[in-house]
Amino acid sequence: MNMIEAAIKNYYGERCPDHDADCVVCQAWQEFDTIEYVHKPMSKDELAKVEQIKPRYTRHTGEEL
Ligand SMILES: [Zn+2]
Repeated sequence: MNMIEAAIKNYYGERCPDHDADCVVCQAWQEFDTIEYVHKPMSKDELAKVEQIKPRYTRHTGEEL
């Protein structure tokens, strides 16, 4: 268990059995899941996939950044 997970468990308690978008506990855990996902080390294949789907930003003038 990492520190963030321990903190959430300590503060909000265990995850609810079902997800409810209006529930603060569910929201906290969902936030944690998002953080976990972002920090998870990616394999080369996964990285390549992300590179592929990376949006190309363009100004409203059509200029590419
Ligand atoms: Zn809940």
